Amino acid sequence: MRQRIPRSEEEWRKILAPEEFHVLREKGTEPPFTGKYLYNKKKGVYRCAGCGNEVFLSDSKYDSGTGWPSFWAPASKESIEPKPDNSLGMRRTEVLCSKCGGHLGHVFNDGPEPTGLRYCMNSIALDFYEK
Ligand code: FE
Repeated sequence: MRQRIPRSEEEWRKILAPEEFHVLREKGTEPPFTGKYLYNKKKGVYRCAGCGNEVFLSDSKYDSGTGWPSFWAPASKESIEPKPDNSLGMRRTEVLCSKCGGHLGHVFNDGPEPTGLRYCMNSIALDFYEK
């Protein structure tokens, strides 16, 4: 982690809504096709719902058909932190907010050009700000 917000899990539990806490701090996943930003096509920035860190931009959002809001790149290399995740018998790469360590989703290698990456995010872990 490059930078951490020094906040205990108990403090996070007080600050976040239960469903936000479940995804951001307990690495939960929202059910597909339920997230508020799945079909959002407005121009703007997506910030971490935990700390406000700018993590994704509408410019790299696309419809992956998976049921989760998907991006082919983060806002910047510094805004997120990839981390190996071998839970649930799968080899995946988890995507954390670089500022607060919050779990945002996973990144896969089946995305579109120019990166070939699919950042599969939980809407509940994001706050959208229209530009
Ligand atoms: Fe954050």
